[in-house]
Amino acid sequence: MDQPMSLSPNDSHAEIRAEVARLCSRFPGPYWRELDARRAYPSEFVAALTEAGYLAALIPEAFGGSGLTLSAAAAIMETIQAEGCNGAACHAQMYIMGAILRHGSPAQKQQYLPAIADGSLRLQAFGVTEPSSGTDTTALRTFARREGNRYIVRGQKIWTSRAEHSDLMLLLARTTPRDQVEKKTQGLSVFIVDMRLALGHGLTIRPIRTMMNHNSCEIFFDDMEIPAENLVGAEGAGFRVILDGMNAERLLIASECVGDAKWFIAKSTAYANDRQVFGRPIGQNQGVQFPIARAYAQMRAAELMVRDGCDRFDAGLPCGPEANMAKMLAAEASWAAGEAAIQTHGGFGFAEEYDIERKFRETRLYQVAPISTNLILSYVAEHVLGLPRSY
Ligand SMILES: Cc1cc2nc3c(=O)[nH]c(=O)nc-3n(C[C@H](O)[C@H](O)[C@H](O)COP(=O)(O)OP(=O)(O)OC[C@H]3O[C@@H](n4cnc5c(N)ncnc54)[C@H](O)[C@@H]3O)c2cc1C
Repeated sequence: MDQPMSLSPNDSHAEIRAEVARLCSRFPGPYWRELDARRAYPSEFVAALTEAGYLAALIPEAFGGSGLTLSAAAAIMETIQAEGCNGAACHAQMYIMGAILRHGSPAQKQQYLPAIADGSLRLQAFGVTEPSSGTDTTALRTFARREGNRYIVRGQKIWTSRAEHSDLMLLLARTTPRDQVEKKTQGLSVFIVDMRLALGHGLTIRPIRTMMNHNSCEIFFDDMEIPAENLVGAEGAGFRVILDGMNAERLLIASECVGDAKWFIAKSTAYANDRQVFGRPIGQNQGVQFPIARAYAQMRAAELMVRDGCDRFDAGLPCGPEANMAKMLAAEASWAAGEAAIQTHGGFGFAEEYDIERKFRETRLYQVAPISTNLILSYVAEHVLGLPRSY
C-alpha cells in the first residue's frame, strides 16, 4: 500500500486523517487478502480502531466517547477505505448507538454508551431487513409479543451484518399487527437484544457466504425473550427511531465510497504512469486517462455532497436529501473508479495480489445496501421534486 497521495485540495481534519492512515499502514494488502480468502473477521484491525477511540467518535464525551462531529467521523471512515482497508467490519459500531443516544432512556444511555465507547460492548448488528419484505420495511413480519415484563420474539432477519462479532443487536420488530394500525409505519418497535444471552435461547445465527468478505448473517428468532426494559423509545414508535439514524449511516457509508474511489484512482494513476506498452506509459493514451479522470471528477462531486450533508447534520439542519444523494453519487463514483482501475491494470486487475479485484467486489455493495439506488431516486423524486409517490 503505497498510499495515499492527497486527491482532494483543502481536506478537512488533516490530523485525524494522518493518524488513521498511520494506523491503517499496519494492516496492508496481504492482511486483507488472507482474511478475504477465509471470509474471516479482521479482529486485530477492529481492536486497533477501538483502542485508538475512533469507533467512539460520535459518542459524547459525557458518555466516554470523543464527541466528534459527523464530518470528523466521515474523515475517519474515508481514510480507512482510501488506505485499502475495509471499514465495513466495524462502521456500524460508530452509528447504531445513535438510536440509544437519541431515543434511549437515561438508564439505557448510562448502561450502554460508556461500554460501547470503550469497546467492551460491541453494538454493531442491525436487524431490519427480512427475506419476505425487502425494502418495504413496514411489511416486516418479525413480531414481539408483550408478556408481563418481557417481549417474546418470533421471526427472521436476513443480511444482519457482523452478527457473529457483536454483543448487542438493535432489532426492529412489529408489536402491533399491520392491519391494526392507522399508518403502516406505526406499530413497529426497536429493542436492544443482548445476543450473548439469547444465543441458543431462541436466537440462531447462520452466516451467509457472499462475493466479498462481509460477515452477513441470517437470524432466526424462535420465542426469544427480551426484557421489556430493552425497548428503545416508545412501543409502536420504532420506525422513527430507525429513520432518525439513517442520515448518519448514509453519510458515513458515502464517505467510505469516496475513500474507495480515492484508493482506486491513486492505484490507477500510479500504474498508468509506470506501465510501459508500445514503448510508452499506458497513461499517455487518452483512452486510459479519460476513465480515470472522469471517475476523479465524479468522486470530487460526490465528496462535495458528502461534506454538505455532514455540515448540515452537524448544524442540526435537515439533511435527508443530501445524505441520500451523497450515498448514491459516492457509490456510483467508487464503482466508476473501480471499473477504471480494473481496465487500467489489464490482466493484473484480476490478480488477487493487486487488491483491485477485492476492493472492486467490496465497493459494489453500496449501490444496493443499506438502501438501493432506485429507492434513493424515488426519495428525491417524491420528497425533493414533489413527484407522485411511486410505491
Ligand atoms: C452484504 C449485505 C449486508 C447487509 N447488511 C444489512 C444489515 O446489517 N442490516 C439490515 O437490516 N440489512 C442489511 N442489508 C440489507 C440491505 O439493506 C438490502 O439488501 C437492501 O436494502 C435491498 O433490499 P432487498 O435486498 O430486500 O432488495 P429488494 O427490496 O427485494 O429489491 C430488489 C431490487 O428491486 C428494486 N426495487 C424494489 N422496490 C422498488 C421500487 N418501488 N421502485 C424501484 N425499484 C425497486 C431495488 O432497488 C433492488 O434493486 C445488507 C445487504 C447485503 C447484501
